Amino acid sequence: MLEQPAPFWVDKSLGEMTPDEWESLCDGCAKCCLEKLEDPDSGEISFTDVGCGLLDVDACRCTDYSRRARLMPDCQRLTITNVGLFKWMPKTCAYRLLSEGKDLPDWHPLITGDMDSVHRAGVSVQGRAVPARKAGDLEDHIVDWPE
Ligand code: SF4
Ligand code: SF4
Repeated sequence: MLEQPAPFWVDKSLGEMTPDEWESLCDGCAKCCLEKLEDPDSGEISFTDVGCGLLDVDACRCTDYSRRARLMPDCQRLTITNVGLFKWMPKTCAYRLLSEGKDLPDWHPLITGDMDSVHRAGVSVQGRAVPARKAGDLEDHIVDWPE
């Protein structure tokens, strides 16, 4: 029996991936699109359950992905040149996992072939995030579930 070639996320380093391969690593969890608060003294980051102003919290999708950098200057675009940002990403984030030498989880859409598997696994923000326009004070929305 012929041996199957290793998938690209096993075979290649992050820096060797094509733009399409890089984009496909995103599982669509939208946890990185939750508003965060930083303690000014300790620098500690706290997640909230409030979505960024461009996040559709039901679909877990950015509503204006192509213009996000202009519309939301705080939106961090992950690239191989800003690997330092990966450590702030949720522990389930594929970019963080691969940068730490770990495998993709079995619910990842690249493994299941189904973009909804991230929602079925309960990993995404679907059903538990609040739209920014309805949130009010972010301090009232600090949560621990993204980690
Ligand atoms: S946390 Fe990572 S996998 Fe999840 S939406 Fe953000 S970039 Fe994609
Ligand atoms: S601008 Fe779009 S991609 Fe960036 S944090 Fe907001 S919803 Fe997410």
